[in-house]
Amino acid sequence: MPKTILVTGGPGFGGHNVVIIGTGYVGLTTGVCLASLGHKVICVDKDKTKIEKLNKGIIPIFEPGLGELLKDHRNRISFTQDLRGTVQGGSVVFIAVGTPSLKDGNIDLTYLKKAVAEIAKAMRGYIIIVNKSTVPIGTGEWARKEIARYFKGEFSIVSNPEFLREGTAIKDFLEPDRVVLGLEKQEDGSFDPRPKEIMLDIYSSVAAPKLLTDIKSAELIKYASNAFLATKISFINEMANICDRTGGDVKEIAKGIGGDKRIGPQFLNAGLGYGGSCFPKDVDGLISIAKNFGYELEILKAVNKVNKRQRVNFANSIKKVLKKIKGETVCIWGLSFKPNTDDIREAPAMEIIKALQKAGYKIQVYDPIAMENAKKDLPKIKIKFCESAKEAAKGADVLALVTEWPEFSEIDMSEIIKVVRNPIIIDGRNLFEPQEMRKIGFEYYGIGKQ
Ligand code: NAD
Repeated sequence: MPKTILVTGGPGFGGHNVVIIGTGYVGLTTGVCLASLGHKVICVDKDKTKIEKLNKGIIPIFEPGLGELLKDHRNRISFTQDLRGTVQGGSVVFIAVGTPSLKDGNIDLTYLKKAVAEIAKAMRGYIIIVNKSTVPIGTGEWARKEIARYFKGEFSIVSNPEFLREGTAIKDFLEPDRVVLGLEKQEDGSFDPRPKEIMLDIYSSVAAPKLLTDIKSAELIKYASNAFLATKISFINEMANICDRTGGDVKEIAKGIGGDKRIGPQFLNAGLGYGGSCFPKDVDGLISIAKNFGYELEILKAVNKVNKRQRVNFANSIKKVLKKIKGETVCIWGLSFKPNTDDIREAPAMEIIKALQKAGYKIQVYDPIAMENAKKDLPKIKIKFCESAKEAAKGADVLALVTEWPEFSEIDMSEIIKVVRNPIIIDGRNLFEPQEMRKIGFEYYGIGKQ
């Protein structure tokens, strides 16, 4: 786990005064990492319980290494519920509040708008307002007008989209592929030098290319990145579905196309598609943004459709097998939307379990970290939350692998076969080797793999 990385060097004059509004996955990681780079950080959150925990040194989310990094830099970071008083002249105020989807796919800016109004009311002198939340194109422009209603002095707006992934957030923040800085321009077309210099100084210890661009482009870069990655995932899932019909192994296809530098090997794992708090909402968000400007984003509509279909197909495959063997108990391994996180937002497991519950099956579930969050979300119908992977497999007619936690690949499957009722694996992430599983005695079904 990365500890105290890139602390050497750092900003030339003892660090900046940084305020972070919102201490979720992005805000807390940003705060702790910026403190590790030598800045003086105040993290603000509305959530009383979160702030109380953080003040005791407890990290309210599961993010590997974050607790240790906080402990190492505790002297440079504080936590409060009260935004007023934190914003001083010269502060750099990062906004990292949630921007969830509305039912129609549009982006809910309620939290962001409140945060902007609160910052504006607390302003007393020049500050830089840096937006890290993922927001529709034009939000920076809107924020300038909104703040000017309350504060008559000078200030700067910056868009600094965040690309970190839950589970590897610290490394992604401190060693990113690039830092994108959307800056306001002066009348002559050059970037406003004051926020430019301060932002470059804030990130001076981060050894990554800095892309300086205009605010609207920065806002769109974030959506375009996630949309492109989601497209790769749906594309390889389409190839897997072809393999299922024609023969061929999607892992070989991924190797074959991923070896082409123009394509690259990442995000080509066929399976149950993308989930989490970002990809689904950002794909929907970009479709809505485009629509609001009179443009239909046909590619992304298809990406979305393919992603949703993967989950439905998986639940249907389980039902089909159970019907054939007249079984009724399904073991689900993995609940979080991906390994190394407790986040179950838009996790395929939630939708698959609900579909199986609706069909009347008994479900036994296990996840190394996400059990508590899943308990809050899942209906309490015919569901058993188990203490171990083995307990969840006990008496199961189908073992469905939904999240590829390393723990599952390390399990001795020759022990698991002794406790299941029917030795059938439906592997939603192609985690297991089909030949190995068949040798042990399992009937094995992967995604796009024979
Ligand atoms: P989150 O829901 O985990 O955290 C948001 C926090 O903001 C919450 O703790 C909430 O209490 C707090 N908050 C809301 N309004 C507030 C206010 N007015 N004052 C103070 N605190 C307030 O969200 P997140 O996952 O960290 O995402 C934040 C933003 O970053 C979103 O726009 C998201 O799309 C984007 N993003 C997320 C990720 C990710 O992996 N989670 C990665 C990149 C970008």
